[in-house]
Amino acid sequence: MNKIKVGVLGATGAVGQRFVQMLEGHPWFEITALFASERSAGKRYVDACRWNLRGDMPAAVRTLIVQECEPGADCQVVFSALPSETAGEIEEDFAAAGYAVCSNARNHRYDADVPLLIPEVNPEHLALVDLQKRNRGWSGYITTNPNCSTTHLVSALHPLHVRFGVKKVFVVTMQAISGAGYPGVSSMDILDNVVPYISGEEEKMEQKEPQKLLGVFDGSGIQYADFVVSAHCNRVPTRNGHLEAISIEFEAQPTQEQILQAWREYHPLAQQLKLPSAPQPAILYDERQDRPQPRLDRMAGSVPGMATVIGRLRPDPLLHFKFVVLGHNTIRGAAGGSLLNAELLVAQGYLGQDHALLAKSATFA
Ligand code: NAP
Repeated sequence: MNKIKVGVLGATGAVGQRFVQMLEGHPWFEITALFASERSAGKRYVDACRWNLRGDMPAAVRTLIVQECEPGADCQVVFSALPSETAGEIEEDFAAAGYAVCSNARNHRYDADVPLLIPEVNPEHLALVDLQKRNRGWSGYITTNPNCSTTHLVSALHPLHVRFGVKKVFVVTMQAISGAGYPGVSSMDILDNVVPYISGEEEKMEQKEPQKLLGVFDGSGIQYADFVVSAHCNRVPTRNGHLEAISIEFEAQPTQEQILQAWREYHPLAQQLKLPSAPQPAILYDERQDRPQPRLDRMAGSVPGMATVIGRLRPDPLLHFKFVVLGHNTIRGAAGGSLLNAELLVAQGYLGQDHALLAKSATFA
């Protein structure tokens, strides 16, 4: 059977380019459509896009003609890297027209019938897709992945939450400039500086995303997890990789060794299914006292940029324990997160049972 045809909405932007890069040579997916604004539509991708990633633009997409963001293209899945100002309606149009939309944008993350997914954390929330299709009368559907800082926070918390119950979280983020898109923050604003404010970021981390991700699907919706998060979000002059200093209080206080064991033994569904973009293991613990560091460790692991790297676990004089988490923001925190969601859709039969069987035997042509 042929590979599944996919498109990228917002293909010329920072996250869109990551999609294009990560989809090159993908065992299950092939790009057949690229979409951007009317400024780029009608041009060859190579002419419309200022390629900002390491290495060359993949040869297979250079001459694809960029399209306006309207349904009609020959693909089954669309990955969305659109700005939130435009993503909401465009994603709905594609879902209504029968496409599986895997979105990075925030617009639909909190809709009661839209799954907010990290495949390792809450794959059972995918069941919301059936509810969504019934509610909205769509033949397609939308899935979303969380904000880049939330992704790595919750990836580190999940194995601890299931064993010990998370009660309070205090997190200070040090977020890379690529998180603001391209060209993003002006060099005059960020060089020799830290900006202690990122619009909307603290609200997403404190009030919505972690509690939905770690919530329970009860057959008709998500019961949000009951814990409190306090977040300070800062923009710092690193290019890629968000570092987060985290303190936690648990319902049942574990020992330091029990926490390390929970991370060590973590082998969730995405890893059991051997999804192509799932890092093995999902969580890396670095014993060195001055690690992880963004420049040195953001690409650590079996699938570069997809793992969550943790270090410096130690007792906390205010809450129970504290540690440091590092994760790549435009890979796992954005394009890679959506790509892994799409791989989960394939493996769970949401893109057809034939594809699900082929995913098991990895025999796409
Ligand atoms: P970006 O670099 O500004 O790229 C925006 C893309 O959307 C471009 O392809 C642009 O096309 C297209 N676009 C802009 N206005 C449009 C319109 N009116 N209609 C159709 N297409 C339009 O943004 P980004 O950083 O890649 O972020 C994309 C999304 O991912 C955002 O929702 C962001 O919040 C989310 N996200 C980003 C990160 C990160 O680390 N950067 C992490 C997680 C989530 P043109 O080139 O034609 O203008």
